[in-house]
Amino acid sequence: MPNKQKCALCAVEYAPTELSHIVPKFVYRWLKATSATKFMRFGPKMNQRAQDGIKDYFLCEACEDSFEKHESKFASDIFTPFVQDNCHTADYGEYMLKFAVSVSWRVLAYAQENGLLHHFRGRHAVAVTDTLAIWRDYLLNKTHEIGNHEIHLLPMSGVIDHSSAGVPENINRYLRRAIEINVGVANTGAFTYCKLGPMIFIGLIHYPELAHWQKTKINKSGQFPLLLRRNSWISSLCGAGGWLNLNRNCQSASWKTSKYHTRRTSTASSSRIHTKHF
Ligand SMILES: [Zn+2]
Repeated sequence: MPNKQKCALCAVEYAPTELSHIVPKFVYRWLKATSATKFMRFGPKMNQRAQDGIKDYFLCEACEDSFEKHESKFASDIFTPFVQDNCHTADYGEYMLKFAVSVSWRVLAYAQENGLLHHFRGRHAVAVTDTLAIWRDYLLNKTHEIGNHEIHLLPMSGVIDHSSAGVPENINRYLRRAIEINVGVANTGAFTYCKLGPMIFIGLIHYPELAHWQKTKINKSGQFPLLLRRNSWISSLCGAGGWLNLNRNCQSASWKTSKYHTRRTSTASSSRIHTKHF
């Protein structure tokens, strides 16, 4: 355990006593509670029981407490009711945006701190710095807007017909169960990808074509689910300009080790994505 270090969010020096979760721990609790064996077994070492996600000395106690407040509200009002009943609807407040930004910021800040963004160059490297600053200031209440660095939410419900060309057989299990964090970059854009079981959060680092996103943006208040038509998210995810298309030409840093993460279910584009395991 390090003696003292700077909090990645507020930069205050603190003596770390507790590891911070990069993916919120309630997601792992849900995955474990709903697995047949009550244990998570991922990746090539399927006999090895997995722990509860990537943890690091990252945040001071005050910042942890601040994140925890939004996480608890999101878990109780949105995530848990949704995984129990996909028809769940709710009016949400700013806690939803705070939570979404906190998850996206953690992924990007962790990637930067661990030297995983070397494939971000030029305008995308500048955009990472800008995004981290905007999201950090929003989380610290120094600003009230996140500008173009929007967060979009795609809640997964229903079943995809995997008989369509290019759709893997296990796509439904991946979309409903997998936990995955990524940072992707292509000529056309850069983004964070946080898949918390059946909910995908996409944080825009650099994404000029904002009009591509329809009814997925998380605002300070609104109604969940953001998408009223079930098939809308499929077109957002898989359609022209969607995440899968974007990734066909992108490189990404990813966090999917046998120790921490769900086995990667290949997508139509995964063979073209450079992934970094650690
Ligand atoms: Zn702090």
